[in-house]
Order: sequence, then structure tokens, then C-alpha cells
Amino acid sequence: MQITPLPCLIDNYAYIINDNNSKTIGVVDPSEAGPVISFLKKNNLKLNYILNTHHHFDHIGGNAELKKLYKAKVIGFHGDKHRIPGIDITLKDNEKWNFGNSIVKILHIPGHTLGHICFFFEKEKLAFTGDTLFSLGCGRIFEGDHKQMLISLNKIKSLPKDTKIYCGHEYTYKNAEFCMKHDDKNLDLIKQFEKIKKLRLDNLPTVPTMLEDELKSNIFLRCDKNEVKIKLNMKNEEDFKVFTKVRDLKDAF
Ligand code: ZN
Ligand code: FE
Repeated sequence: MQITPLPCLIDNYAYIINDNNSKTIGVVDPSEAGPVISFLKKNNLKLNYILNTHHHFDHIGGNAELKKLYKAKVIGFHGDKHRIPGIDITLKDNEKWNFGNSIVKILHIPGHTLGHICFFFEKEKLAFTGDTLFSLGCGRIFEGDHKQMLISLNKIKSLPKDTKIYCGHEYTYKNAEFCMKHDDKNLDLIKQFEKIKKLRLDNLPTVPTMLEDELKSNIFLRCDKNEVKIKLNMKNEEDFKVFTKVRDLKDAF
């Protein structure tokens, strides 16, 4: 199974999923059709599925054109069927769906939007996290609340540590700067930041990242850690309060 990130709009990624064995092709979150069509043409491929993590314009903008051109089926969250354009297959929390020979588990992860989902390819250990978990960051909380977002991030945290994380935007550099501001003694983070600087200098994507690296370096996944709490003067506070504080600080960053 081959995953190709396609830069779209300003800083979005659409992901081509190519399963050579079953000859199944999908795209995750096509914000625009153009880059997807160019890639498919160049590689002489057709499109079977469009997978949407949530309904925002910069994740579904290419649905209609791609569906029309390839007769691809649109997959999304059951609860968002009224606002995902062209939806054909609706899935619920914890439901499993077959992509070729692969089993995809749906995780409902509200917070950024109420109907946000993660597509988890179980055997391949690939997670498409949309705008919920970013590399070294997390999404803004638009429709849900902080509690929901923290529960959603904890769901992703419980996936196998060697899961590859494919997120919706290239925000990693800015996220790293924020993490460094509040977690600057974290040696894993310092190492990670060096890697990111090099990649971005060459204009290369920072995705995918390993969940294991996110657990060590992403401050939003470290709100239960004493060193983070102490740095924020919140030593004995609940994780939820620390997470809320970190999210608020990032909103103002
Ligand atoms: Zn979004
Ligand atoms: Fe987005």
C-alpha cells in the first residue's frame, strides 16, 4: 500500500492511497480536484474512493468534480451525511469498512467539528487524522469543546505506537515553535525540530510522523506530564485544565 501526499491550496494535504494488490485507489480529503487529477493521469490510475475526515471546505472541495469524473464513491461520517457533498457510504464510530483487502476502522473524534472522524487502517497502521491531530499540534476547537477534543486525542493516543500519522495540513514548523516555547527542555522535541527544519528548508513534507514521536514531542499529547504542568505553573491541575490552557495559548500564538 502506497500513500502519496499531494500539496493542495496553501498548506493542505490530500493523500492518494494506492493498494497495488487489490487495484484500489482512494484519496483522503481532496480540497481541490486539480492536483488529484494530475497525479492520477500521470500515473495512469483511476479513482475508486474519496474519504473525508470532516466537512470543511478545505477537505471536501474536490469531491464533486472527482466523483463526476471517476464515478468514485464518497465515504464519510454518518452524522455528517447532510454536509459532506456527494456522500455514498456513511460510517459510524468504531464501524469497519473494507478498502480493497484492508480493514479500515472509523474513530469518531469530535472537537474541531462535531462529525470529525479518523480513518485507521488496522493492519497497515496508518491513521488519517484530518484537523484533529497535527504533527506537533492539534486542531482548533470550532464546534465541540475542550473536553471532547481531549477525549478524541486520547483515542488516537491509544493506537499502536508505530502508527503513521497523516494529518490535514502542513503546520508542523509553526507548531514546533509553539511546543519549543512551552516545553524547551524536551530533548525529543529539540531533535524533532532539527529534523523538521531540514525538511522544510528543502520544501519537503513533514508527514507522515510516527505516533511514538508525537507522544514524546507534541505538547497537546503531553498535558498529563508533570514536566509540562510544572512549566505552566499548573503542577497539581487536572489534565483537562492543562490541555485547555495549552489550546488557549496556541490560539493566541
Ligand atoms: Zn477543518
Ligand atoms: Fe483544514
